[in-house]
Amino acid sequence: MINTFVVIFLTVIILKTLWDITLDIMNLRYSTNPNAKIPDVLKDKLSQEDFEKAKKYLKDRVLFGVVRKLTSLIVDLIFLLKVFPYLEKVLSDKGSTIFQAILFFAIYELIDYLVGLPFSIYSIFVIEQKHGFNTTTPKTFLKDQLLGIILTVAIGVPVVAIATLLLVKFQIWWWQLSILFIALMLFFMIIQPLFIAPLFYKFTELDDEELKKKLRVVLDKSGVKVPNIFKMDASKRTKKQNAYLTGIGKSRRLVIFDTILSYNHDEVLSVVAHELGHHVKRHIPKLLVINSLLVAFILCITNILYKFILNTGVFGLTQPYTTFIYAYTFIISIMFFLEPIVNYLSRKMEYEADEYSARLLGTSEPLISSLKRLVKENLSNPNPHPLYKIWHYNHPAPEERIRRLEELRVQNG
Ligand SMILES: [Zn+2]
Repeated sequence: MINTFVVIFLTVIILKTLWDITLDIMNLRYSTNPNAKIPDVLKDKLSQEDFEKAKKYLKDRVLFGVVRKLTSLIVDLIFLLKVFPYLEKVLSDKGSTIFQAILFFAIYELIDYLVGLPFSIYSIFVIEQKHGFNTTTPKTFLKDQLLGIILTVAIGVPVVAIATLLLVKFQIWWWQLSILFIALMLFFMIIQPLFIAPLFYKFTELDDEELKKKLRVVLDKSGVKVPNIFKMDASKRTKKQNAYLTGIGKSRRLVIFDTILSYNHDEVLSVVAHELGHHVKRHIPKLLVINSLLVAFILCITNILYKFILNTGVFGLTQPYTTFIYAYTFIISIMFFLEPIVNYLSRKMEYEADEYSARLLGTSEPLISSLKRLVKENLSNPNPHPLYKIWHYNHPAPEERIRRLEELRVQNG
């Protein structure tokens, strides 16, 4: 019985990574095969040279991703089979369970961070650099890392302490833990734009007065109250372009990446109108509800497995925090197979926001042209594999978005 469970446990974890890698390779072969063509709707903006560049970028990222994922799998297996049981034993006489849990997670996070660090460095300073996106200096990188560590400790320690307390106190803890995690999600939504993002980026008033005036007109038309319009110095880290709307009430802010200011005004307005679409169609609260239900569901079945692991003594674990990690790792690996459902909902929302943008501005032209620029300038993959899209794409492929927008144009006459 116990051995059967260990076999199932390891099989699921390994299969998850293997399936993930299979999808990556399938996507790479599909997108870069000699017969792959530039989609019709992109032909006017995407040259053969752009197309080749996008394929090279994809190849580098996929090969990097495969190595990264295999390394993670090996590290996870070593942790689960050797390091965790060993750490648990070593820490067993070091004070209260809560203190042990904090030490345990600190050591685990540190090793995990050190394993991931070379990959972060390679991704930014080799891959992004090679393809002309990176603008991060080593100094900015170091600062980001330090800030990240400080934030992880400041937030991680109290969260681990409270979560462990709940695990120790209750047999059935899934709903208490769900409340903790959902509260944390809400907390982040509020503090992220106000306190965390400004640690990493500089936010200043948008200095293009004409654009600001046009933005105000669009904001008024949508009826969304946005007290602040900021420019963010994204160009300190990347050349990629974006804009977003975040925060609630008086702290609500529209943030424009300085990198997108090379777009013409109509294009910027169309991207902002898309963001407003998410807001007007209440996508953020909808996603919050979906994510909260998902958290509660995951923790509920984790709780069942947790009791099973404790009762059967499989893996020989004695502590609540280690038992939780095993149960949670298993459930999360299974949840990977539900990812297409969440991404389907997300893609639906993106179409709605695109449609909103086109209706608000009375034209889909500028959004179509900014999507084309995004593909060209961000080297997006013009030909993703259909199954890969179903699995991983939380946005529809640009080609599909453009086609849908062109249909709208036809309908409107
Ligand atoms: Zn969107």
